[in-house]
Order: sequence, then structure tokens, then C-alpha cells
Amino acid sequence: MTDYIFPSTIEEALQARVAAPEGRFIGGGTDLMVLMAADMLSPDPLIDISRIPELRGIRETEEGLEIGAATPLAELASDPRLPSVLVQGAASVGSLQIRNLATVGGNICNASPCGDTITPLIVLEGELVLISPAGRREVAVAEFFTGPKKTVLNQDELLAGIKIPRKNLSGGSSFKKIGQRNGQIISQVNVAVWVKVKAGRKVGEIRAAAGSVGPVPIPLLKAAATLKGSGMTPGIIADAARLASIEISPISDVRATADYRRSVIGTLLTDALAEAWAEAEGNN
Ligand SMILES: Cc1cc2nc3c(=O)[nH]c(=O)nc-3n(C[C@H](O)[C@H](O)[C@H](O)COP(=O)(O)OP(=O)(O)OC[C@H]3O[C@@H](n4cnc5c(N)ncnc54)[C@H](O)[C@@H]3O)c2cc1C
Repeated sequence: MTDYIFPSTIEEALQARVAAPEGRFIGGGTDLMVLMAADMLSPDPLIDISRIPELRGIRETEEGLEIGAATPLAELASDPRLPSVLVQGAASVGSLQIRNLATVGGNICNASPCGDTITPLIVLEGELVLISPAGRREVAVAEFFTGPKKTVLNQDELLAGIKIPRKNLSGGSSFKKIGQRNGQIISQVNVAVWVKVKAGRKVGEIRAAAGSVGPVPIPLLKAAATLKGSGMTPGIIADAARLASIEISPISDVRATADYRRSVIGTLLTDALAEAWAEAEGNN
């Protein structure tokens, strides 16, 4: 039978992981338990990090906000201090029962290209705080993923938290996703946008990213570059939507064909831009 342990500090959790290389950290278990039930994985022990106080909650710091890795997505989905794009991404995951268990750290470390908090964190320039017995390092969310279910996380490393810089807490933002049904949708495609208005109602700063359209979540660099400095007119938005469909590299899988993903991304980006721009203008 699998051992299940509850460390009460980060140090205890790291020690347990070093002592048992076959073990795994577990947050809410909503990804891990599915794999274990299907006999695709049999880690031992399970090191439950959900009761470590330092890993839970959303804190204001001098630099911005820091979200503990073991914070349930339900908390992110209802925190008015977080930008809309992250609130909406978290709120779109599964059902309320799933969001009460599922953690933001689990969503990131599971490293699925369709993880719904990942594209929001990319456009917000999130930084991941990784801790191991050797020390601590920070990695940009955009540089964390190396392939489907693959990351730069070392075996003995724990994701402790996610930092969002203060400068990105203002502006306007939006998250849109499409799936096969209305309830508990796993993204066929998701899009996140963050934008700031500058003088003359022009686009000052802008970032966009798409999920489930490549081996890792992808920053939409060309689409964003086209929009920067523009007046967010329908013509420019159409150009950006066309570029987005070119710069992604989707595959066909059980959820959708590559052609479908290429055809739908422009619509999602257009909708997200409209919503983010309206919020940015309102906050200006
Ligand atoms: C019915 C259902 C619907 C779902 N719908 C969605 C959806 O709409 N969108 C979506 O994005 N996901 C969805 N998911 C997937 C899942 O709920 C999320 O990915 C969730 O955020 C995972 O978090 P968790 O805490 O449960 O992860 P866990 O299952 O506990 O862990 C996942 C992985 O991350 C590792 N890990 C966890 N925390 C850490 C840490 N702090 N440091 C290092 N490694 C860590 C674990 O070892 C494991 O490998 C769904 C799942 C189910 C069962």
C-alpha cells in the first residue's frame, strides 16, 4: 500500500522527497490520482504539501503578489487582487469540487499544454520560486516547460510559489477557452491577453499566449508585436488573429484537429482582446 505523509514544513517535505526518490509531491491529487487509478503511475510515498502554511494563500509583497503553490484554484478564482486573466483561467478549471482541491502548483507542475492557469501566468510574466535542498532559484513561467508533461523542475525540487510583478497587476486582461462541452471543459484551445493603454488610446504594452496549440503553452509574439502601438482597430485585430493562427503549432488529438485549432484561435484572440482592451481603458 502507498504511504501517505503530511509534512508541516517545506524542509520536511524536501527531506521526505530526498529520502524516497520513488515518492511524489501531491497537491490536490486531481491529476495524480487519475494517473494512479489508471495504473499509469505508482509513486510511494505521496508527500502531501497541502498542509504546509507557507505554501498556501495569496500575499502582497513589495514587488507585487506571491501565490503559494498549494493554494486551491477556488481561492484564485475569487480573489479581487488578481488580474482578471488569472481569475478567469482558474475559474474555468473543472467544477467547483475540482477547484476546491486542485492547486495552482499542481496545474503548473502537471505541465499539460492545456493547463488553464499557465497562459494567464505567462502574460503576467509570472516567476516560479523553486526550492530544493541545494537552495532556491526563480524561473520564468514561460521558460519552465520543455515539452508535454516535461519541465525544468529537478527531481528534488518543490515549486513553492508564483510571483506576479506589481507593474502587471494593472492594465486590462482576459482569458478565453473553447472545449467540447459547456461544463468541466478541458481546453481545445485557450488564449490569454494582458494589455496596457498609453496616451492617445494606443496599445502601450501587450502580451498574448495560447494553450493546447503546441507541445508547450506558446507566447503569441508576432500577434502581440502587430498590436503594440496600434489603436486596436478591427483591421489590426484581424491581422493579429491571422498571425496567431500561423505562429502556433497544433496537433490533431482526441480533443480536436489541428485545422480546427488553427481556425478557432483567431476568434478567441479577438474576443479576449476586446474584453482586455475594455478593461484597460476603464482602468486608465
Ligand atoms: C474532472 C477533471 C476536470 C479537470 N478540468 C481541468 C480544466 O478545465 N483545466 C485544467 O487546466 N485542468 C483540469 N483538470 C486537471 C487538474 O484538475 C489541474 O491540472 C489541477 O490544477 C492539478 O492540481 P492538483 O493540485 O490536483 O495536482 P496534483 O494531482 O496533486 O499534482 C499534479 C502534478 O504536479 C506535481 N506537483 C504538485 N504540486 C507540486 C509542487 N508544489 N511542486 C512540485 N511538484 C508538484 C505532482 O507531483 C504531480 O506530478 C481537471 C481534472 C479533472 C479530474
